[in-house]
Amino acid sequence: MNERMYGLGSKRSVIRETFEYGKRRAAEVGAENVYDFSLGNPSVQPPAVVAETLQELLQSEDATALHGYTSAQGDASVRRAIADYISSSQGVPADPDRIYMTCGAAASLTITLSALCSAGDEVITFKPYFTEYKVFAETAGARLVALPSVPDTFQIDLSALERAIGPRTAAVLINSPNNPSGAVYGEETIRGLAAILTARSEELGRTIYLVTDEPYRELVYGGVQVPYVTKYYPHSVVCYSYSKSLSLPGERIGYIFVNPAAAEAEKLYLAVCGAGRALGYVCAPSLFQKLVARCQGVTADVSAYEKNRDLLAGALRAYGFSCVQPDGAFYLFVKAPGGDATAFCEQAKAFDLLLVPGDDFGCEGYVRIAYCVSHAMIERSLPAFKKLAASYGL
Ligand code: PLP
Repeated sequence: MNERMYGLGSKRSVIRETFEYGKRRAAEVGAENVYDFSLGNPSVQPPAVVAETLQELLQSEDATALHGYTSAQGDASVRRAIADYISSSQGVPADPDRIYMTCGAAASLTITLSALCSAGDEVITFKPYFTEYKVFAETAGARLVALPSVPDTFQIDLSALERAIGPRTAAVLINSPNNPSGAVYGEETIRGLAAILTARSEELGRTIYLVTDEPYRELVYGGVQVPYVTKYYPHSVVCYSYSKSLSLPGERIGYIFVNPAAAEAEKLYLAVCGAGRALGYVCAPSLFQKLVARCQGVTADVSAYEKNRDLLAGALRAYGFSCVQPDGAFYLFVKAPGGDATAFCEQAKAFDLLLVPGDDFGCEGYVRIAYCVSHAMIERSLPAFKKLAASYGL
């Protein structure tokens, strides 16, 4: 038996465990009395056009084609629609033959890292980072190197990056808008990042690729812009997903976009195809490939998340907690009073508030609160947060 796989399967994620605890607790005290902020499952309905398009597809398309295998890299007309949308919305060149349809961002990342890395390579990312990055990097035979970000703002620490890049660095992986901090990396940061990657790639005689994990690209507030990295650094691979933008996480649909101007773009794209094959993906779900092709530019109602953010962040600060205002995604990353995040989450449980310690995201002393829940639940939870604050003497 494979001990690494056994280890991955037998170690339950804290997020899942908290979620399961919430279900058990709801059976005891009633679902309306448990405030589960553990999971990043969208609470906003998919846009109406999703159901309409599914119905149209089911009525108008031949069922064997609709439910059949597509090419491994995805249906050609779907890839064309996505490339056209990237070009028109971002003003960058995009080519359907550099797009590979996937089963969501998790698959996009595993495939991309497997395509880019050889045994012993390093993938650099920044804390806090999505818990699965370590698993994805190690599956690719690489080691995840997680660097600190700038304290309090959770922006990329460019000088730490400069120091960390070495001869084994295959890729730098960023996630903006960020899970769990909600930070969005602005244009200056991306320019700085690109300058470092360009200079260090030249010095090392090896192209360091930039991989961006973008399931939250459209979930931004107050007009904040998310720079499109291919404009700033040619050697970029965009890992996109519709899980959050269309509220379809269970349907498993996304894509990889290899920038046509990247070094060895064709070879890298073929390595992506090879990694997808080696990992047994066969093809992304055919029905949902066709759906997303017809829903380019459509996004679920982001204003509901913004309303949640404003209510929760405002109330928590008023109660004495400290957190940065997230510009995107749907998480608050709150400093644990006393500094012990696990103890804080346990204490929160006493008030039926289910939060997740930041340790698994590489940041001790913080907790993640997923506010992709109903507004009514946030309203009901506020007295419990107030009591929790009081229990810490805030
Ligand atoms: N990357 C980040 C930062 C995420 O938060 C998530 C899911 O929550 C994923 C990747 C995986 O997304 P998907 O459901 O598209 O696989």
